[in-house]
Amino acid sequence: MKISKIFITHLHADHVMGLVGLIQSMKLNGRTQLLEIFVPKDTIVYMKQLFSIPYFSADFDIHVIEVFDEKIEFDGYWIRPFPVSHGVPAIGYVFAANDSRGKFNKKLCDELGIKGEMFNLLEKNGKIEVNGREISIDEVTGKNRKGKKIVYTGDTEKIEAFPEEAYHCDVLIHDSTFISQEDKKETYHSTVKEACEVAQLLSAKKLVLTHISQRYETKEVEEESKKYCENAIVAEDFLEITL
Ligand SMILES: [Zn+2]
Repeated sequence: MKISKIFITHLHADHVMGLVGLIQSMKLNGRTQLLEIFVPKDTIVYMKQLFSIPYFSADFDIHVIEVFDEKIEFDGYWIRPFPVSHGVPAIGYVFAANDSRGKFNKKLCDELGIKGEMFNLLEKNGKIEVNGREISIDEVTGKNRKGKKIVYTGDTEKIEAFPEEAYHCDVLIHDSTFISQEDKKETYHSTVKEACEVAQLLSAKKLVLTHISQRYETKEVEEESKKYCENAIVAEDFLEITL
């Protein structure tokens, strides 16, 4: 299985009960690779309780790591957890790919005599000597390409304090449990309108509405979102989006 890390927003049952079954399936499939599970601060004790269910075991290491609002770098990407408001310890995440260098300027490379294996050397060393002249990779590549960025709020009522990294995201996945304030009452969830407002606040390129109450039809949610923003879609199981 390709999954190496799991990011948990909070420990309500509908967000973590699937973990036990998933881990047991990993075991059945012969997994040996380490699994890292990131959870909000002060919740490790509940994770231990979750894994104390009868007959639960895994033949691989599981590291449960508490996070709060620190940026964490991985190979090629980074995450930035941030606190949300859900009545229990809860966080959202900014997930982002690192910026990558711009494309080679083919024409310029041709003119300078860079060809074949030289591209690999240039990539590896950041510079290369051609015809007695040292050329740096920056001279022959375009502007850096910004890494794509996804913000996932998890369950939350509307918040306005987001980390700087959350702004100008490519996709915002936001709690949109309710359509009306009447239905929402005092719950720690958001309405579709509030999700749209947050998308505007963050200048998100696309908004994905999720955690929709079963009392609504998808069409109703779509119609509600169209009143406030044009770039929203309603999430569904196994939805894939190309960025
Ligand atoms: Zn919840």
